[in-house]
Amino acid sequence: RTVYVNGKYLPEEEAMISVFDRGFLMADGVYEVTTVLDGKLIDFDGHAARLERSLGELDMAAPCDRATLLAIHRELVARNAVTEGLVYLQVTRGAADRDFAYPEGVAPSLVMFTQAKSLIDSKAAKTGMKVISVPDIRWARRDIKTVQLLAPSMAKMAAKAAGADDAWLVEDGQVTEGSSNNAYIVTADGTLVTRDLSNRILHGITRAAVLRFAREAGIKVEERAFTIEEAKVAREAFITSASTFVMPVVEIDGARLGDGAPGPVATRLREIYIEESRKAAV
Ligand code: PLP
Repeated sequence: RTVYVNGKYLPEEEAMISVFDRGFLMADGVYEVTTVLDGKLIDFDGHAARLERSLGELDMAAPCDRATLLAIHRELVARNAVTEGLVYLQVTRGAADRDFAYPEGVAPSLVMFTQAKSLIDSKAAKTGMKVISVPDIRWARRDIKTVQLLAPSMAKMAAKAAGADDAWLVEDGQVTEGSSNNAYIVTADGTLVTRDLSNRILHGITRAAVLRFAREAGIKVEERAFTIEEAKVAREAFITSASTFVMPVVEIDGARLGDGAPGPVATRLREIYIEESRKAAV
């Protein structure tokens, strides 16, 4: 695999980052994951805009402009002949002697690589996922997409240990989001409910697109908090993220939703999302 590190395309074995890089020492870095379908990028501008915002919130310099970033994405996709999969991008503050205070005038590091993966043809899309709830122990700025991912990793491991596919995170009695995705329920009257935007959740790029498609399809949308108790008696549930698109959830903390099969709203939104984002891909 050819990866990108600070201006160079290299075989992965030759790519190197300093042991003093603050991404490595202090999780002082942000990332994005952009999906590739048919060799093209899904919602590149959405991911680039969120990256710029994450960098700004952390007072971190951008490694390059958006057009250059797009060119690097395309070059990596081409060099690795990726038709379906992901491009991972990480910007860290850079290498400096270890200190909690940010160093001045240090050049940021930009690392990117691809992961070829089948995303559309997914078993979970047909059978639905099982989720468990776990306490949300993450920090208070989840709107910034930082590389400090230990809390969601622990949540995912707890889900695996419980025989589930993923975890929904609960804070003050209410669901914030999934370990690496946004969480949704469809209530008995057909209303689509997902957590409102704030510093408590990541502002999903897929979330924004799916809510737009839902409204266009005439589905009533409510952006508000909901509890696990409400979710357990919901008509259906699903998650969204760049890599999973829309993925149905059929079981929450052991409670089966409806007849235990993926619901019609999740199934329809998955189809619309894939079709529309494919058309708009760059
Ligand atoms: N929420 C969290 C915590 C995430 O890590 C992610 C994606 O990685 C998402 C939501 C979904 O965001 P997006 O749709 O931009 O992939």
